[in-house]
Amino acid sequence: MTVLIVEDDDRLMDALRTFLRKAGYGTVSAADAAQALEALGTDTEVVLLDLGLPDMDGIELCREIRERSGVPIIIATARSHVQERIRGLRAGADDFVVKPYNVLELMARIEAVTRRSRSLVAEPIHEQVIDVSGARIDLSGRPSRSS
Ligand code: CA
Repeated sequence: MTVLIVEDDDRLMDALRTFLRKAGYGTVSAADAAQALEALGTDTEVVLLDLGLPDMDGIELCREIRERSGVPIIIATARSHVQERIRGLRAGADDFVVKPYNVLELMARIEAVTRRSRSLVAEPIHEQVIDVSGARIDLSGRPSRSS
């Protein structure tokens, strides 16, 4: 699981990186939009996107990432910026956290959006029933419906 952290605040970046690595995530860091677009790769599983960036409006960057990839995007904004959050969601973000956010909440949101995106690409569920000359063996562990 690789998280692309887009954040221009060095201290926050360090704290996030340390925390996420401890939690078992791989991290890639980008301090501005240009770095973020360069770092966006096929192994990026979620993008944590600060909207206040030095070189590009974070909303624009969100839209740009969304054009290139279906990767889940979580935006981070200040509490007072409700319009920004709405614009972010409309620009293709999947979720948001309000700064200053609790890292445990962030992790729960990362888990939630990646669970959703994984289930979209997951293998179709095959019928886990083997039918041997009339004797049905249900491998799914679900209680069988009486027929
Ligand atoms: Ca910022």
